[in-house]
Amino acid sequence: MNRNALKKTKIVIFTGYSCNNNCRFCINSNKRELLEKTTDELIKEIYLAKKRKADIIEIIGGESTIRPDYANLVSVAKKIGIEEVLSATNGRIFSDFTIAKKIVDCGIDGLIFSVHGHNSKTHDYLTRSRGSFNELIKGIENLKKLGFKRINGNTTIVKPNMRFLPRIAELYAKYKIRNVEYIFVDPTYGGAYDNFEEFVPKISKASVFMRKAIDIGLKHGYDQWKVRYVPLCYFKGYERHISEINERNLFFTEHWAPDFKNTDALASRQMISRKKTMRCKGCSRYNACEGIWSEYIKRYGDSELKPVK
Ligand code: SF4
Repeated sequence: MNRNALKKTKIVIFTGYSCNNNCRFCINSNKRELLEKTTDELIKEIYLAKKRKADIIEIIGGESTIRPDYANLVSVAKKIGIEEVLSATNGRIFSDFTIAKKIVDCGIDGLIFSVHGHNSKTHDYLTRSRGSFNELIKGIENLKKLGFKRINGNTTIVKPNMRFLPRIAELYAKYKIRNVEYIFVDPTYGGAYDNFEEFVPKISKASVFMRKAIDIGLKHGYDQWKVRYVPLCYFKGYERHISEINERNLFFTEHWAPDFKNTDALASRQMISRKKTMRCKGCSRYNACEGIWSEYIKRYGDSELKPVK
């Protein structure tokens, strides 16, 4: 059978860019003022996604869960038969048990909690929102009380949190989070672009902590923890933990945002935002690897890339 026929179609619907956090490295930090989509627009998009045979809809922002119509959007998607409805979230809304229950009752299938520190000090510093860590933890605990199983995690790797990755990993293990992504910060736009030196770590340094985090997952029996947006030369032996390889094999991904529509998000990322250089010549991982962020090469150069024999 054609491998493509086995892939699922995932449509990521951005509701807008409003957020109750204000992360220092956020890629959307300069887009907050753009208009949010209306409820009608979003419902039309959900129906359109169904027409395009989406297996998965991911509803994201900004922070989509703070919209008063969020639960209704989930409900509509489930009622028309979308197999999986997911959201990435800062998790704060779920600290309110009543709201958490309402969202779970509407049929949300999976939630991806963004955890950027192992404690309030680091997480709240990065989110610039006091109390955001405690609310996120309360949110996870409320969902557990409700018997909600699919809580996943993601952590953006930036200079201020990279050395705490093993402790963040232990936190995920404590809450038995089976799917986690450690995401090397995207400096193409937004906060990490504007404050590059402050937030973007060297891959040669960050990768040490990222590999440790994956090892901690394995020690606890979690083999689905992954790293994202990394050059493969720093992850020899960790190939099955690379999100992009997994993603290419499993999904066609579209992004529908207020300010752009991208009908092949994976291909355009490879063509525009990521880069391999002359140093990659002859590397045995060349075809599987997306290289590193183009903006990273512009600022730090490519001297860390080391072709794999
Ligand atoms: S040398 Fe280049 S192609 Fe090879 S793994 Fe590193 S970034 Fe990827």
